Amino acid sequence: MIHCDIIVIGAGPGGYETAARAAANGLDAIIVERDQPGGTCLNRGCIPTKALCRSAEVAVTVREAFDYGVSTSGFTLDYAAACARRDAVVGELRQGVVTLLGGVRTVVGEARFTGERTVAVGDEVFTAPMVVIATGSCPAPLCAEGSELAVDSDRVLEMDRLPAEITIVGGGVIGMEFASIFAAFGSKVSVLEYCQEILPPFDREIAKRLRMAMKRRGVDVTVQASVSRISKADDGRMSVDYVSKGKERTIVTDMVVSAVGRRPVLPEGLDKAGVELTERGFIWVDGSMQTSAPGVYAIGDVNGLCMLAHAAAAQGRVILGERVDLDVMPSAVFTMPECAMVGLTEQQCADNVTEYVAATVTFRSNGKAMATGDAEGLVKVIVGKTDRRILGCHICGQHASDLIQEVAVAMVADVDSSRFAAVVHGHPTLSECVAAAVEKADKAARGS
Ligand code: NAD
Repeated sequence: MIHCDIIVIGAGPGGYETAARAAANGLDAIIVERDQPGGTCLNRGCIPTKALCRSAEVAVTVREAFDYGVSTSGFTLDYAAACARRDAVVGELRQGVVTLLGGVRTVVGEARFTGERTVAVGDEVFTAPMVVIATGSCPAPLCAEGSELAVDSDRVLEMDRLPAEITIVGGGVIGMEFASIFAAFGSKVSVLEYCQEILPPFDREIAKRLRMAMKRRGVDVTVQASVSRISKADDGRMSVDYVSKGKERTIVTDMVVSAVGRRPVLPEGLDKAGVELTERGFIWVDGSMQTSAPGVYAIGDVNGLCMLAHAAAAQGRVILGERVDLDVMPSAVFTMPECAMVGLTEQQCADNVTEYVAATVTFRSNGKAMATGDAEGLVKVIVGKTDRRILGCHICGQHASDLIQEVAVAMVADVDSSRFAAVVHGHPTLSECVAAAVEKADKAARGS
């Protein structure tokens, strides 16, 4: 039996960040990983898709180059080359993770619990007063007849060719990011979303903006669509049967992509460790990320609290006793245009009968946005009516994922809308849009 201070299972962003920080704090740390370091984020998620998003963005820019006074004498789209670039980016970053884990003993293999705070990998057995489960998640299966004909996000990222027509089931974060990439590379894309609006956790006005913007780029989105059956004809084409607003419809397509959520990846032997699950099948944790077994923690997708890479890393910092504000969690979708949010949506404020005011400012009123030729979208800021605390911010538009961060800082630092409005924002910058929306909300809250 090998003794150490902390065992981390899974080398995704939750696991590798926690193990590296633990080692930097002087702890004897072991990390167990059965696959490549970097987890879903680096190998099958955030990073490879962001590399493809960038290729998609370049494709659109070149296509529209003439509008900017640049003539191109024809161009070709090479998805395989974009995939090669993606793989190179991933490879380089993977090396960065290996370097980061320099002070941590890495054990390659499948970890399973054999008892309380005891983990076996092959013939080796490890024990520590602290065990962190950071095993992540995998694509959830689509519940429809013929669902095995659909490819999930992992398999899509293994392909280096795109068919002419693609139907995506699920208009969530993954579905919309793929829709944006595939459309930019010339495929005809349809999205079937079960809910009333795409991106269910997002503010509805923002999600609708994105849906409209994607429509203008040729992506056909159907909401309130329930997929019942997928079938394949002799010519290899697929049919997707679905019901929308009481009517039965069919889309004929070349490929069906399933992006209907993710489910936890659970290590074996959780019962031996005394780790219990929630009703939804995730690992139950308390506010300090401790499971029902003392000394055993679970962070990231596997606990189902917030399926975001940075949330996993932040939860790991909580375990190590660092001060982290988990209540203010920015998130973004890397579509064209991007969407980002932090805090409460307007519907959440309305449902909770929180007294609030919401103000919106469009990117069209912003000099920098107009000058760049990409003024699609808006910023919405929600402020408490009496205390003028910033309750939420929602952005659809270029660089939304970066712009949201300023508001996150203000929320954590408890900067109210009046104080925020007093901050001078540089000109011409997109951040002026955020400042203008905050100022508008502040004035509305003060009734002026
Ligand atoms: P999701 O939960 O965000 O979206 C799934 C969508 O599929 C939902 O809109 C849901 O209503 C819809 N759906 C479910 N069953 C359906 C059906 N039978 N027919 C039609 N629609 C159906 O899940 P996801 O997009 O798979 O992403 C998984 C997780 O990964 C999310 O929690 C997400 O936050 C995270 N993620 C984040 C990022 C990012 O931050 N940029 C990127 C990718 C993934």
